[in-house]
Amino acid sequence: MDINISTAKLNLEKNGFLDVDVDPTIDLFAEIERLKKEKNAILLAHYYQEPDIQDVADYIGDSLGLAQQAAKTDADIIVFAGVHFMAETAKILNPHKKVLLPDLKAGCSLADSAPAPLFKKFKEQHPDHIVVSYINCSAEIKALSDIICTSGNAEKIIESIPEDQPIIFAPDKNLGAYLNKKTGRNMLLWNGACMVHEIFSLEKITRLKMRHPKAKLIAHPECEDPILREAEFVGSTTQLLKFAVKDDAQEYIVATETGILHQMQKDAPHKTFIPAPPNNACACNDCPHMKLNTLEKLYLCMEHELPEITMNEQLRVAALKPIERMLEISRAAGLIG
Ligand code: SF4
Repeated sequence: MDINISTAKLNLEKNGFLDVDVDPTIDLFAEIERLKKEKNAILLAHYYQEPDIQDVADYIGDSLGLAQQAAKTDADIIVFAGVHFMAETAKILNPHKKVLLPDLKAGCSLADSAPAPLFKKFKEQHPDHIVVSYINCSAEIKALSDIICTSGNAEKIIESIPEDQPIIFAPDKNLGAYLNKKTGRNMLLWNGACMVHEIFSLEKITRLKMRHPKAKLIAHPECEDPILREAEFVGSTTQLLKFAVKDDAQEYIVATETGILHQMQKDAPHKTFIPAPPNNACACNDCPHMKLNTLEKLYLCMEHELPEITMNEQLRVAALKPIERMLEISRAAGLIG
């Protein structure tokens, strides 16, 4: 075996990925296609991945769509171009398949904002509440939950729960507050948030709107309330994409991670999509976790089938129950096929 690969495997845990140089003359797109066929692998990519990864994926989607694809695939290997909790969800749904993630350190600030031991204590303080958790959480939090939801199905999930049943919603306080408003519930909210969706500046958006008076502001419900109140449409990543394609405006200010602009531009090439500005000069509306995955890391992970997601079986079974509940409710509501 190549000495570099042996060393990279030894250092995998420390680095999070196979740290070896890739020959720059290799056609990575062709190689990834070859590996998919040879290994009967499916490549699932989130909308927030870099454009090259989106273009080589078999399926591009948001959390709900990706979980559904992971649940129904007959591929032997699932390569997940997204962040850790998403690949974990694929593993929970597919214990007998190999699930690969190009960089194990592709985490999520929102998932990290709910450490399982603290959340367990919080839950114990409210024994009459059931727990609805947003899919952006660790397997441990899923195992402590009754139902999982995504931004695409959260309203339907909450509406399926009897009105007199108290609910804890975790981990995103912005999405939770938005859902409280939409459903008229008074869910108890865990105090977590996504670093990317909290960064938008209302002041700069207002100035931008003055320069583009016809542009519609569209926003993801993980954004803070002042942004959501100004938005003309609020929805999950997939809902934002569908709205932008169907709607009759020509210009949009998009308040979510910038990766989605690639699909928006592809699906509606004649329209203009402007990323909503963050409250400082950095490119903070690029998710640094999502962007840890690169085409090179993706190729290496498919070639060597590492890094792989593994999970304790007891944890997996406990985390599976609330995900299955979500898929059942989503199916009954006609949100997925
Ligand atoms: S955009 Fe936010 S919620 Fe999504 S993966 Fe990045 S940190 Fe997590």
